[in-house]
Amino acid sequence: MKRRHYERAPEYTADAYRVAGSDGIAYDVLGWETEPDEGTDWTGIEERTGKLVVQMIGDDRHFIVDPDDVTPLAEEEYCPECGQIGCHCYR
Ligand SMILES: [Zn+2]
Repeated sequence: MKRRHYERAPEYTADAYRVAGSDGIAYDVLGWETEPDEGTDWTGIEERTGKLVVQMIGDDRHFIVDPDDVTPLAEEEYCPECGQIGCHCYR
């Protein structure tokens, strides 16, 4: 799989997020997805696609999601160990 480019998304401050359609798994928001456009060869600047790059907690897989589908999770709502929502295996 092609490696996704992204830039930091400081507005996503929570440690974990729920992604619609993927209930039960907590995700970390890595940043805004970016893509080269016609000018990138010259400027080195990539354009945001409007999507977010997220990573499953406890895994290294990356996914591209719509920001509307992402909601922050409270610390007690997910498991920092295995990344599952509602799991308390480590407590
Ligand atoms: Zn767990």
